[in-house]
Amino acid sequence: MNSPTQAESLVFDGRSVIDGKRVNARSGDTFACISPVDGSQLAEVARCSAADIDAAVAAARAAFDDHRWSGLAPAQRKKIMIRFADLVQKNGDRLALTETMDMGKPVKYARAVDVNSAANCLRWYGEAVDKVYDEIAPTPRTALALITREPVGVVGVIVPWNYPMIMAAWKIAPALAAGNSVVLKPSEKSPLTALLLADLALEAGIPAGVFNVVTGFGPEAGSPLALHMDVDCIAFTGSTRVGKQIHVMAGQSNLKRAWTELGGKSPNIVFADCPNLDKAVEAAIGSIFFNQGESCNAPSRLFLQDSIRDEFLERALKLVPAYAPADPRQASTIMGALVDKIQMNTVLGYIESGRTEGATLLAGGEQVLTETGGCYVQPTIFAGVTPDMKIAREEIFGPVLSVLSFSDAADVVRQANASVYGLQAGVWTSDLNKAHGVARALRAGTVHVNQYDEDDITVPFGGFKQSGVGRDKSLHAFDKYTETKTTWIRIDSPV
Ligand code: NAD
Repeated sequence: MNSPTQAESLVFDGRSVIDGKRVNARSGDTFACISPVDGSQLAEVARCSAADIDAAVAAARAAFDDHRWSGLAPAQRKKIMIRFADLVQKNGDRLALTETMDMGKPVKYARAVDVNSAANCLRWYGEAVDKVYDEIAPTPRTALALITREPVGVVGVIVPWNYPMIMAAWKIAPALAAGNSVVLKPSEKSPLTALLLADLALEAGIPAGVFNVVTGFGPEAGSPLALHMDVDCIAFTGSTRVGKQIHVMAGQSNLKRAWTELGGKSPNIVFADCPNLDKAVEAAIGSIFFNQGESCNAPSRLFLQDSIRDEFLERALKLVPAYAPADPRQASTIMGALVDKIQMNTVLGYIESGRTEGATLLAGGEQVLTETGGCYVQPTIFAGVTPDMKIAREEIFGPVLSVLSFSDAADVVRQANASVYGLQAGVWTSDLNKAHGVARALRAGTVHVNQYDEDDITVPFGGFKQSGVGRDKSLHAFDKYTETKTTWIRIDSPV
């Protein structure tokens, strides 16, 4: 299912899912869900607010308290989570095309990356949950101390629009597997696949009320969730600006646990002794333009050592034409549309600032395919970028690469770390000492050496500094959705 005609045959239901039912907002309000592919309206989506969040949280609380899910043996939850993952796979074509129409990414990647990763994540946490053990502490013989993990209760989840299914899965999979109830608020820019996930969860056997999806805008639906007195934990992925507000709202309300996965401006550092320059070029270009540059971990600051700069850029420019934006519904497309006009104008504004601040535009820089009614921007490369420029400091979240220069390891580590963000970084060198030394010195949650695309559900994902608090993925994610309890038992030994 990947041609424009098949996309037209899709019917989208924009109602929220609360307590196992598709429902309109209590106010009856809706908002138009517009496709960035061609400007068409896909659906009227429920514009929920505090009353709807209250209803969803009440349903989640009731489900948690009567143990319809939290009380199941982990092995039983595992079976249902795996069924959920299977259903995501089975409905993969529909989910992928919905994602493409909703946020503009190429259907090829929506199917191969987004659907597969979301299904794999649900399956992995389902499979893990009956294999993690609790602890007994090494206490004196007169007492026994059990250290157990318990679900936190009701988990609020707020996600962005760039990988709607994957971002949701990274949070709902460990939260549900651990026995929590969930209220998910997807981005107003891409709400449709989250609603389909809720339908599939019900079909898989996750009881009504356990997984609710409430659609709406951040201040109207997101804030009431983050401020709710009966939500025990809020797991957020999005911008650093809103992430800071989430921590404030958690503190202002019930001191709910707050976990935030936020923005990035990741440095990708290529030393002159890079073992394979072609690979480094491919990774630098492929990773910044993947998903139209709308990736939190995109290596958007490329640092080239002086002696290889010209050679590297010459090779890089040869790859750029392949990323010319095209209709993302076509199977051959690798660069689609930006999520909406607002984001497109933000990106174009950054391109303008690069020009006026004196960077050299090597490729792209323009909006294209305007006749489609969609939101398409050329893959863009600026060279001669200096650390003080806006395009070197701020997250653009679009297909724009800023190329900077450096002289030696100390110089590049200083420049790379001079950022409020610390999500990821890349280092390319043949020198083992340099690789380890620079990787250790970089203030980032993940450092890639001689590649930039390794990814696996088994490893933690998250950032240092203002890239957020906490880690998604891996067994570490269970820490976010469980409380640690100690139970002391006195032993009056008769012997
Ligand atoms: P955003 O912060 O604008 O919105 C994210 C979510 O928060 C949306 O659902 C939105 O409706 C909601 N929201 C907005 N205002 C709110 C408020 N006042 N109260 C509660 N909720 C509110 O971010 P975005 O534009 O959707 O996403 C892009 C950002 O996400 C980028 O900064 C990107 O780096 C980041 N991101 C980070 C990761 C990661 O794992 N670190 C992954 C993907 C995206």
